[in-house]
Amino acid sequence: MEGRIDPRVIQAMSRVPRECFVPEELRAVAYEDRPLPIGCGQTISAPHMVAIMCEILDLREGMTVLEVGTGQGYHAAVMAELVGPSGHVYTIERIPELAEQARKNLQKVGAANITVVLGDGSRGLAEHAPYDRISVAASAPEIPPPLKEQLKPGGKLVIPVGSALQELMLVVRVNGYHEERRMGVIFVPLLGEHGFKARD
Ligand code: SAH
Repeated sequence: MEGRIDPRVIQAMSRVPRECFVPEELRAVAYEDRPLPIGCGQTISAPHMVAIMCEILDLREGMTVLEVGTGQGYHAAVMAELVGPSGHVYTIERIPELAEQARKNLQKVGAANITVVLGDGSRGLAEHAPYDRISVAASAPEIPPPLKEQLKPGGKLVIPVGSALQELMLVVRVNGYHEERRMGVIFVPLLGEHGFKARD
């Protein structure tokens, strides 16, 4: 795996202590390459998945990024390392407890270029659009139109799509939108206006 991942991504991940983004009782297994429960029925993605998504997005210094589905903030922290202090990551989470915990975790590790927003990220985050890159950490029934519209020209969006069978999709905004399937994945559902219908 490591040989196929951009060394910049590996380096960014090595700078973010994953143990600070999992519940205390799971600290001992924080560096295993597996997803872990983070409360509220949600999960932190496996490190290899974070690496693959960062690699696909080709994050560069100075970029403005939107993440949909903050969880406890790990993936956002890795992307913030990759865009550096001249870039910014806006990350949106719909569950208040997780957004709050993510803010605490990010403060603890000293990540300054990240803003955690509470809300329905299936609509994107129009206030800070357009984005160079958008990373979605929950699976959508189809690619939400607002996310495509909030990409800059040349911008890239990575998003899992589907329910029982999910595909990780890359969308590139060039002469319209170019969509391509990258791999089969398993994510929690994206809920909300352009996601699946929430039961709560
Ligand atoms: N990015 C995280 C993974 C979080 S799991 C990581 O560091 O690994 C996906 C998250 O998406 C969950 O916390 C879930 O609550 C959130 N989510 C689901 N639908 C959402 C929506 N419409 N808007 C914002 N967050 C959403």
